[in-house]
Amino acid sequence: MRGMGMLKGMGVTGRTMLRTLFPDGLRKPVPAPSRGAHTVQYPHVKEAPVARARGVIGLHHDNCTVCMLCARECPDWCIYIEGHKELAPPRRPGGKPRARAKIDRFDIDYALCMYCGICVEVCPFDALFWSPEFEYSEPRIADLLHDADRLADWMETVPEFETYEPGANVKQPKLPEPSQHRPPWSAIQ
Ligand code: SF4
Ligand code: SF4
Repeated sequence: MRGMGMLKGMGVTGRTMLRTLFPDGLRKPVPAPSRGAHTVQYPHVKEAPVARARGVIGLHHDNCTVCMLCARECPDWCIYIEGHKELAPPRRPGGKPRARAKIDRFDIDYALCMYCGICVEVCPFDALFWSPEFEYSEPRIADLLHDADRLADWMETVPEFETYEPGANVKQPKLPEPSQHRPPWSAIQ
């Protein structure tokens, strides 16, 4: 019947509204929406996000080699990196001085970031980490461009590494290539 879907949807909405307004039920209809609502009354109440929530990206300064991979792979082009090379002492006595990259600028524009996590995934040197921190809103959208120092401060809120569940890092045997199962052309003809 036409319109049944809409009626059902309205029924669900109505029931949810009554449960929110009268959390003790209609037998005791005392309106208490702040108790009945599932929403958290932020900023008076703060929700604790799950440890792996994608709140903000922290930068582990010392691990970054200014390879630019994250900036190149970011689909929003919202990572801005500049750096220069410096000579560091040799690893062994008598060795050659090593060239080391130093960060001059590492900014992420959170007004553009879509929290896809590609930069964290592609970083080959474990320099980027997700933090569940979410309280960094700004009155001006331009102020959502955060620099290396701010990104480094967020490292303090990155949760400790959790060991994998048993069996999670066991290498799965690869499935054979489909071509190995294909009969030779002579068998098809
Ligand atoms: S999370 Fe995605 S959009 Fe945001 S900075 Fe990283 S790659 Fe770019
Ligand atoms: S954060 Fe990682 S991927 Fe990005 S420039 Fe530094 S080392 Fe390279």
